[in-house]
Amino acid sequence: MARFTLPRDLYHGKGSLDELKNLKGSKAAVVVGGGSMKRFGFLDRAVENLKAAGMEVLLIENVEPDPSVETVMRGAKEMQAFQPDWIVAMGGGSPIDAAKAMWAFYEYPETTFEQLTVPFNFPTLRTKARFCAVPSTSGTATEVTAFSVITDYQKGVKYPLADFNITPDVAIVDPDLAEKMPQKLTAHTGMDAMTHAIEAYVSTANCDYTDGLALHAIKMIHNDLIKSYNGDMEARDRMHNAQCLAGMAFSNALLGIVHSMAHKTGAAYSGGHIVHGCANAMYLPKVIKYNAKNEAAARRYAEIARFIGLDGACDNCLVDALIAELRKMNQALNIPACIKEYEGGIIDEKEFMEKLPKVAELAIGDACTGTNPRIPTQEEMEKLLKACFYDEEIDF
Ligand code: FE
Repeated sequence: MARFTLPRDLYHGKGSLDELKNLKGSKAAVVVGGGSMKRFGFLDRAVENLKAAGMEVLLIENVEPDPSVETVMRGAKEMQAFQPDWIVAMGGGSPIDAAKAMWAFYEYPETTFEQLTVPFNFPTLRTKARFCAVPSTSGTATEVTAFSVITDYQKGVKYPLADFNITPDVAIVDPDLAEKMPQKLTAHTGMDAMTHAIEAYVSTANCDYTDGLALHAIKMIHNDLIKSYNGDMEARDRMHNAQCLAGMAFSNALLGIVHSMAHKTGAAYSGGHIVHGCANAMYLPKVIKYNAKNEAAARRYAEIARFIGLDGACDNCLVDALIAELRKMNQALNIPACIKEYEGGIIDEKEFMEKLPKVAELAIGDACTGTNPRIPTQEEMEKLLKACFYDEEIDF
């Protein structure tokens, strides 16, 4: 038995933000990030629409990138005082992820963060509020997924929370919001979406319901991401849908160790964060090579390669063609090939090596490892991470 869960309603296309005026309720808590939604006028429009729906509105602002447990607790407290029956989260992955966790603590103030980090262990939500997500970036697809990533800064660890209870009720995928993304964010979030679709397609939990979504997303991202990066707004609009399709796939087929490694290297080093999408983009070619030692995975990577029009005489040739194509995309998007080159070398080599055994252990224990086609040993994970630091070939 497997489960396939998506939001009940998904509004898409230009102007779909105005669907907020058709939500039925009396109080909405609107969760947003650092101010771009306000600056571009989308926050005001959202609030106007909610007021037109007859709702009282509370703003919960300033959710930081890579939101912390503390931010989640602050928002949940405000919700407990206000008692909304709708939570409307707008912006990049961060405010929407934070709002999902706030939702759980709003409905269950006595629950602990540790309890929520156990996959598929959430209490039953929707006893107080329903959830509407409006994404402004084209990557995480958190508007349709059962996931949220919250960072524990005391431990320096990113925790992916997973449960179908936090799959939103309504998603509004309006490309007008994504058109405001800066170029670098377009690259990083786009390759995050590509990684979602590819990891979902080779996941051990893949199924007929997720395969079509994953393949179509891969083809769209392959066609449109570089154009979108270079300012083609029609391609940008299509990317907003493509990332959402990838999200529908991975929310149900889950992910793999590219994400395990990105989660556990993301906040581990004193030089700075390794941005999620960029980490995925750098690690993906290495992980494909590693996973392709598994025959079933190699066959699936070969299917992806064929589907996007690459040539190769055998499955392994097609796997290599896919890896080469992804590296080419990274180059066109100005994404470095490895951690050593990330942001001019802000991640210290010595610190990386000192923390390697611990980070490898945490990556193996990450919730995304379980559905990867190969389960790495400690030694293999250390080698993989080292290969991601120096851009080394994988041959194990
Ligand atoms: Fe991701």
